[in-house]
Amino acid sequence: MTAILQLPDQSITPPPAEYTRFIGERLWLDFVNNDRAVLRRGRAADALDDFDTYVGWLGAVRVLDDERAASMLRRAHQQPTAATTALHEARRLRNVLRNLAEHGMDDRRAQDAALAEINRILGRSAGSRRVEPRTDGGFVRNFVTAGDVFAGLLVPVIESAADALVHDELPRVRRCASPRCVRVFYDASRNGKRRWCEMSVCGNRAKASRHRQKVRAKSAS
Ligand SMILES: [Zn+2]
Repeated sequence: MTAILQLPDQSITPPPAEYTRFIGERLWLDFVNNDRAVLRRGRAADALDDFDTYVGWLGAVRVLDDERAASMLRRAHQQPTAATTALHEARRLRNVLRNLAEHGMDDRRAQDAALAEINRILGRSAGSRRVEPRTDGGFVRNFVTAGDVFAGLLVPVIESAADALVHDELPRVRRCASPRCVRVFYDASRNGKRRWCEMSVCGNRAKASRHRQKVRAKSAS
C-alpha cells in the first residue's frame, strides 16, 4: 500500500545529467558555452532555459551532486520567485563572462564588468566550501550557503573565472576559429595553437571545406 504513496518531496528528482562534451577546459568557459549546451543525442539547447535545466547542467559538471540538486529543485518549487531571480542572475553572469572570454584580453571594460559581477555575487554568498563523497564512490565539491540558498550555485563558476584573472589565463582563452561557432575554450595545448572547440566537429569541417576549395581550383584551371 505504502509503495504507491509518494511524498511531494520525493517526486522531485533531478533531471538526468544528459549534458556532454565539455570542451572549455575551465568551468567558467563551459558555463559560457552552455547557451548551446550539447546533449547526449547531439541536440544543442540553452542550459539556462529554466531552473530545472540549470540545475541539471550544474549536476552534469559536478558542481552539484544528485542529493543537492534534488534539494535545489525542491527549494525552487517552494520559492519560485527566488529561483527565477537566480536563473536571471545566472544568465546575466553568462553574458558578462562571455564578454570577458571574447574581449577580456584587450577590453578593460569587459574586465571591469566581470570583476564587478564576480565581487557582487561573492559578496552575497556567505557559506562554506566542502568536499563530499558521491553516491557513485567519487567526490564532489560543494558550497553550502549560509543565507540565500540559490546564491551559492554560481560560486564555483565565479571562482573559476576569478582563477583565470588571478593566474593571467586570458591570453590563452580563445573562441573557436570557425566563424559559425561561438564556443570558447582555454588553450591548454603545449604549443598554444589550439584553434577548434573540437577537431571532430569544427576542425574537420574546415578541413573538408579547404579540400573542396582545392578540388574546385584544380578543376577550374
Ligand atoms: Zn567550434
